[in-house]
Amino acid sequence: MNIDTECIHAGWDPGDGDPRQIPIYQSTTWYYDSSEHMAKLFDLSEPGYFYTRLANPTNDAVAARIAALEGGAAGVLTSSGQAASFFSIFNICQAGDHLLTSAALYGGTYNLFAITLPKMGIEVSFVDPDAPLAELKKAIQPNTKCVFAETLSNPSLNVLDIEKFATLAHEAGVPLIVDNTFPTPINCRPFEHGADIVVHSTTKYLDGHGSVVGGAIVDSGNFDWTAHADKFPGLTTPDDSYHGVIYAEQFGKAAYITKIVAQLMRDLGSIPSPHNSFLLGVNIESLPLRMAKHVANAQTIAEWLEKRDDIKIVRYPGLTSDPYHKLAKKYLDVAGGCGVISFDLEGSREDAVKFLDALKVISVATHVADARSCALHPASATHRQLSDEQLVSAGVTPTLVRLSVGIEDVDDLIADLDQALAKVG
Ligand SMILES: *Cc1c(COP(=O)(O)O)cnc(C)c1O
Repeated sequence: MNIDTECIHAGWDPGDGDPRQIPIYQSTTWYYDSSEHMAKLFDLSEPGYFYTRLANPTNDAVAARIAALEGGAAGVLTSSGQAASFFSIFNICQAGDHLLTSAALYGGTYNLFAITLPKMGIEVSFVDPDAPLAELKKAIQPNTKCVFAETLSNPSLNVLDIEKFATLAHEAGVPLIVDNTFPTPINCRPFEHGADIVVHSTTKYLDGHGSVVGGAIVDSGNFDWTAHADKFPGLTTPDDSYHGVIYAEQFGKAAYITKIVAQLMRDLGSIPSPHNSFLLGVNIESLPLRMAKHVANAQTIAEWLEKRDDIKIVRYPGLTSDPYHKLAKKYLDVAGGCGVISFDLEGSREDAVKFLDALKVISVATHVADARSCALHPASATHRQLSDEQLVSAGVTPTLVRLSVGIEDVDDLIADLDQALAKVG
């Protein structure tokens, strides 16, 4: 099936007399006739549900839908994008291990990697994703267990050279995990370029309506854990907490995801509410339509901004002037990738604030990737404690504006930007 069809049908195949839409299984527990049946479920020798902290049919249907969109073998939903990033790594990394990551990351992911993982004894190295392969290889260590990067980074909008990163990871005998939140599987399918595992903050475009926080992890099933058995004992040796099951032997392409469910969900929780998953499943049905409109609107606005004298620079991978345009054409179905644009105004930090405050249709919010357009001035929000000099060294200029273009009529958005720009200077 084509991806537009999968958005609507994948993950839920109703039988005769079943509900047409994915039903909400709002239940903590499942009933069974015999303790023998229950025992088989606990031994993982028979599939089935027993407690929603581990798995729930509504969650599983929506996870299967996202896995289908990515072209993966198995998937699982988490309660947030942060939980998805954490579990994707903690499933194969423990104290004493090393993670190699691109430095172009979402702020929350940066904190997780720079502060929290080291507290757990996991070493983390940050690399410039645009460095040549030979340079990147120097950051690989004997205890490296995975390589991580964002396909289209938030907020810097760097397009990842996925093949370069896949080579880096595979030559080291470890998987490449990518965060595909911004382009979504509609505009980028990382498994086609060698990535092994994909994570999502479904809070962004997949939900797309600013209504549910969530995450997802999808495994391509392509990484051969047993070929690197010494690096991944958690998948290739018996799990004492699950009656000696060896995930890679018993579950094949679903080994990595099964281990997340059986161990991490059991011990750490982070399962989404079935009701949230239901909303996510419904909203994914319109994802192809929404992504097309986000990209078309953002492209129009980026080109309009680029022509103005009161705008210093516009960054959007869909612009031929953008440093990532070539990579965008290679890896993204439509070069823009998503609806997020960043630009620098002529003027001062105060002028940028004046501009933001004058917007009427476009709201000021820290959220991105929503049906509603919103804008953020990092220098007066997420980075407000920094001086102008400190801002520049953090890669954020005092007049930088991040605009998340929604799916409203583009003429209304341009009129709003135009009247707000007129109030500056
Ligand atoms: C928002 C975001 C996250 C974190 O997701 P939450 O759902 O907010 O926990 C991770 N990665 C990227 C690229 C994001 O934009």
